Amino acid sequence: MTKQTLSFQAEVAQLLHLVTHSLYSNKEIFLRELVSNASDACDKLRYEAINDGGLYEDAPNLEVRVSFDKDAKTLTISDNGIGMSAQEAIEHLGTIAKSGTKDFVSKLSGDQKADSQLIGQFGVGFYSGFIVADKITVESRRAGMKESEGVRWISGGAGDFEVETIERPARGTSVTLHLRDDALDYASAWKVKGIIAKYSDHISLPILMEKEEWKDGELINPSDENGGRQPGAMLKTGAWEAVNKGSAIWARAKKDITPEQYSEFYKQISHDFEAPLAHTHNRVEGSTEYTQLLYIPGKAPMDLFNREKSAGVKLYVKRVFIMDDAEALLPTYLRFVKGVVDSSDLPLNVSRELLQESRDVKAIREGCSKRVLGMLEDLAKHDKLPAASAEGAEGVTDVVSEEDKAAAQANAGKYSKFYAEFGAVLKEGLGEDFGNKERLAKLLRFASSTSDTVSVGFADYKARMKEGQEAIYYITADSAAAAKNSPQLEVFKKKGIEVLLMTDRVDEWALNYLHEFDGTPLQSVAKGAVDLGKLQDDAEKKAAEEAAETFKPLLAKLKEALKDKAEDVRVTTRLVDSAACLVVQDHGMSTQLARMLKQAGQAAPDVKPVLEVNAEHPLVKKLEGSVHFHDLAHILFDQALLAEGGLPADPAAYVKRVNALLV
Ligand code: ADP
Repeated sequence: MTKQTLSFQAEVAQLLHLVTHSLYSNKEIFLRELVSNASDACDKLRYEAINDGGLYEDAPNLEVRVSFDKDAKTLTISDNGIGMSAQEAIEHLGTIAKSGTKDFVSKLSGDQKADSQLIGQFGVGFYSGFIVADKITVESRRAGMKESEGVRWISGGAGDFEVETIERPARGTSVTLHLRDDALDYASAWKVKGIIAKYSDHISLPILMEKEEWKDGELINPSDENGGRQPGAMLKTGAWEAVNKGSAIWARAKKDITPEQYSEFYKQISHDFEAPLAHTHNRVEGSTEYTQLLYIPGKAPMDLFNREKSAGVKLYVKRVFIMDDAEALLPTYLRFVKGVVDSSDLPLNVSRELLQESRDVKAIREGCSKRVLGMLEDLAKHDKLPAASAEGAEGVTDVVSEEDKAAAQANAGKYSKFYAEFGAVLKEGLGEDFGNKERLAKLLRFASSTSDTVSVGFADYKARMKEGQEAIYYITADSAAAAKNSPQLEVFKKKGIEVLLMTDRVDEWALNYLHEFDGTPLQSVAKGAVDLGKLQDDAEKKAAEEAAETFKPLLAKLKEALKDKAEDVRVTTRLVDSAACLVVQDHGMSTQLARMLKQAGQAAPDVKPVLEVNAEHPLVKKLEGSVHFHDLAHILFDQALLAEGGLPADPAAYVKRVNALLV
């Protein structure tokens, strides 16, 4: 292939512009990203070589080399990993394949400050090189391909890049950054070493740098004509030394790892700029042996709700990297968790298919789920600071140690933060992880008719239940406002009974899997007949029965008029101010869920709701004997539908009827 100039995909150009303009304060991360790519490339080679040993050619020792040339103002990161063919270089370095990245770019506002925060939640990978370089040269050859099939890729990071075929004896990739004038200090050993120690110490491959030696009283940087860029070129001189510790952090003892190291490792594997909310690190022994180091991020990714999205856990077998995104290691509803699982039992050549079936993997998955839930329970426990103790009151002294206090302080608010980001996904677990249903139910939080913040757990609710209350009441709706003002809530408000407001799209579905909490049934206020049981006094019950009796003829007439729309018409006890509302049968699909499914283009049964009318309402009282009976009946029904966020089946007919009456 002769030299050709190609354009970046539009999203890449946009991302590049942003990278170079908004990451100044975080320049040094480019090295983490490039070293991480180099290390990934070596991992990929090792993995492919399990089935094809020939890929190692004559260089079985995988390594990353970092070198610089002060005069040429370059910094080069080389690896002898899998490498790229010309086609791969064009695809991987010229387009964005990952859908999450595209979504991300489309969210950019052009406001640098906001964007650089966004970008912090997101890995910029290879393109981060342009933070410090005004030109990048990549030379590569894919393992197993001919020496004549190397590729050179050059770009100034604006709209286009050049590619051409080159001769390249060495397998793998070298990325040469032509440093910007304000980034020349990256061409220095101590600076680069410091950054590697900070970000990449755990990488298990050696990261080599040219050893600087005193020679004739002078500090020199020996570099051959290749600038030391070709892996293997200087191997025998002994002039290279490893600058990383190379010990996988998860294999070390907990007590030897500082919070900063945990945090740095998280940033490394997640490409997040911010520290994680929490982590759990354990060596599990027994019939299945493995180590897990799992993190909960502070922020949800753009594509959180994409259930097909890759999982965030890397699988290692005896410290050898096997695969990224091993989805079999955690259930889908925990897809936000990042981390590493290192198994001692799985074979090195394990495939994704094999993972799905392995009994060891099943045990790991259960173990990991339990740990993650445990971590969340811990956060939930410490979410609220303990109420300040009544100091001095009756000589009660506070026995909480200073340490405990500090820990409580550090963890306060974390669960709320977690829940705001990931709560909706956690709910999917009710339908997915039956074994942990009860633990999950305890972790759920909702807003309620008496609490605007999403902070009420089922246990809190139960503790506040009225005497004689026999169910946990909830309502599902499209929005908090719709839920709060729903007519179905009227009688509960009047009686001072709290109702949980469920406004996440997944709620209705998730509740199909949860019928009770700790022995108390969950009851939708929009389903079935309201039976307030002991909460209703005898006089109220009697009045309701009488109303049902007197209204019998009217109800029959209404039922006839609305026979195409309503399953039944009855007198209600739910309403105080409104004239009517719609309810569905006890185990029927709610009208709201049916609506949502239809909007999503999915098959939904035609739910015929029951119309409940308020016998005390003037409109209802007027119905009997009205010459407009037919129109009023339909208006009553359509308004009940409107009140819960629905639309009349024939909006024009509704408008006509109302206007006729208004005139
Ligand atoms: P990511 O690493 O998150 O996929 P990058 O933008 O960093 O995104 O890299 C894009 C792709 O380019 C990688 O997925 C990989 O296929 C390829 N790539 C980057 N660096 C190297 C390298 N040193 N060796 C081989 N392939 C590489």
